[in-house]
Amino acid sequence: MPTLMKTLSKLKPEAGATWIERELPTIGDDDILVKTLAVSICGTDVHIYEYNDWAKTRIHLPQIMGHELAGQVIRKGIHVTDVEIGDIVSAETHIVCGTCEFCLSGNAHICQNTKIIGVDRDGAFAEYVAIPAKNAWVNDPTVDPAYLCIQEPLGNAIHTVLSGETQGKTLAVVGCGPIGIMAVDVAKAVGASHVFAIDLNDYRLELAEKLGADFSYNPKKVDVVAQILKETNGLGVDVVCEMSGSPIAFNQAMKYLKKGGRMSILGLPDAPFTIDVANDVVFKGITIHGITGRRMMHTWQQGKELIDSGKLHLSDIVTHIFPFENYEEGFALMRQGNCGKVVLRIGEKENL
Ligand SMILES: [Zn+2]
Ligand SMILES: [Zn+2]
Repeated sequence: MPTLMKTLSKLKPEAGATWIERELPTIGDDDILVKTLAVSICGTDVHIYEYNDWAKTRIHLPQIMGHELAGQVIRKGIHVTDVEIGDIVSAETHIVCGTCEFCLSGNAHICQNTKIIGVDRDGAFAEYVAIPAKNAWVNDPTVDPAYLCIQEPLGNAIHTVLSGETQGKTLAVVGCGPIGIMAVDVAKAVGASHVFAIDLNDYRLELAEKLGADFSYNPKKVDVVAQILKETNGLGVDVVCEMSGSPIAFNQAMKYLKKGGRMSILGLPDAPFTIDVANDVVFKGITIHGITGRRMMHTWQQGKELIDSGKLHLSDIVTHIFPFENYEEGFALMRQGNCGKVVLRIGEKENL
């Protein structure tokens, strides 16, 4: 076992990141040490990389970045019984307390003491990462880690799409970044009747179509509200999955959401904005649902079943795979936007 490992760390309060060797993390009695095989770059990682206003107030430097991971268990603490050395795991990145009102009522995804891997503690853009064993999700070892690492954001997509009825419903995905295209894939896999994909980027719309979107609209080119109303007999869609964080897109979606429909929101707007509560919410009798994280571990089980069913297209969702040291290319691509999920390969599996 080496004593030093390569990491991508945030060391300075400015844009960028540092490729630097750090000591291997130590583990507690309830933790596992994971040899990282693959990680994917999240929008959150891009915010930390760019050091935006959110990152300035949230991230305590120095810190190893990254949270979407697949790796192999190399060591385990003496209390760990559910995970074995050699297991290929992914991680639920929300570390929750298990004792607050929300954890005790089966709502750990809104635990009030949540700590996030790669945000509140050292992350997985490193050759090794220590995580609590209870956060490990044991994977099928025959699946490529490049696909296993995306299960955490896939869980966001699943949680959003399946937070209400979807089968046989018309559904719009607003914002077709990596999680948006996953939502398209999930919605088709679980039997949504028609999926509408909306994004300002044509590359992403093409990807959404490849994943089964029945209609794809670029608001720069078409009147999205008119088009969707036209395709839905003037009634609108049953479900909107809001993943753009754009106030304009949000308010357009309120106009093409059917009466009695559901709006599930994962996208994060930069600032508060105005909506027409009387006309778009109250008189339409819609349900608005905020989505944070994943149901633990219900969403992971749903993800496993969807992956095992063969109905998801993980190799289309992951559009780019780079070696770890080429991280700058990965970040540049994420910032530019012509990509699905971007993955970095880190280590090799060991025969344990
Ligand atoms: Zn993420
Ligand atoms: Zn809690």
